[in-house]
Amino acid sequence: AANEIARLDSLNLVGQLAAGIGHEIRNPMTTVRGYLQLLGAKPDYVAQKSTFELMISELDRANSIITEFLSLARTKQTELKSQNLNDILNNLYPLLEADAFTQNKQILFIPGEISDLKLNGKEISQLILNLIRNGLEAMEERGCLTIKSYVEDDKVVLAIEDEGCGIPSEDLNKLGTPFFTTKDNGTGLGLATCYRIAESHNAKIHIDSSPRGTTFFVFFPIRVKGQEQNEMIA
Ligand code: ADP
Ligand code: MG
Repeated sequence: AANEIARLDSLNLVGQLAAGIGHEIRNPMTTVRGYLQLLGAKPDYVAQKSTFELMISELDRANSIITEFLSLARTKQTELKSQNLNDILNNLYPLLEADAFTQNKQILFIPGEISDLKLNGKEISQLILNLIRNGLEAMEERGCLTIKSYVEDDKVVLAIEDEGCGIPSEDLNKLGTPFFTTKDNGTGLGLATCYRIAESHNAKIHIDSSPRGTTFFVFFPIRVKGQEQNEMIA
């Protein structure tokens, strides 16, 4: 519980900082990107073409980190709509499959019979993508990642199971802390965003990990009939 509170506190702080500076950093970057493109197209710089491309792609990378950061820091209310998690997964599936295919890994989706939930499609897609990208990144080639949806007690469960390296127990309580990453090119914002999104859906994330693989579970409460839930959740 203390961990949970520390994590929420840091999310709040991140939110306030991001709201203040995220957009401001982007504007000058856009200007620089524009001038780089102009300069790079001039005959004088033909020999430096790849250098200009590298500078632009690095700016784009920084920009996508800011995007991730802003989506983590979102303080607006999440609009929820009644829909089925399986539909969201089916829509994403071609993209996920392509992701796996280019890494020479497999992906399997086993949809269960589940009731509709109040969801924000965009956010849930983001959560699924972040968890699946992590699962794929943790696995060697030929590894298989399994996505399942099913009902357990009064919850709809989304389970994402990989055959990756697992998460050392000393890292488990750092997961979801913004900027915690063990990857050379990681941002450490993926899981923090997942926790933020889970929270806006009243859902809980659980992790099972061993050196043979990791499963991320997302538990969504099923709405009890006759019991009104707010259309909007902060
Ligand atoms: P990033 O992917 O940019 O490193 P994340 O927030 O998505 O940031 O993940 C944080 C860290 O959690 C990762 O660097 C990795 O150490 C660990 N992690 C997350 N998911 C998995 C997984 N499925 N298997 C092993 N480690 C994982
Ligand atoms: Mg990630």
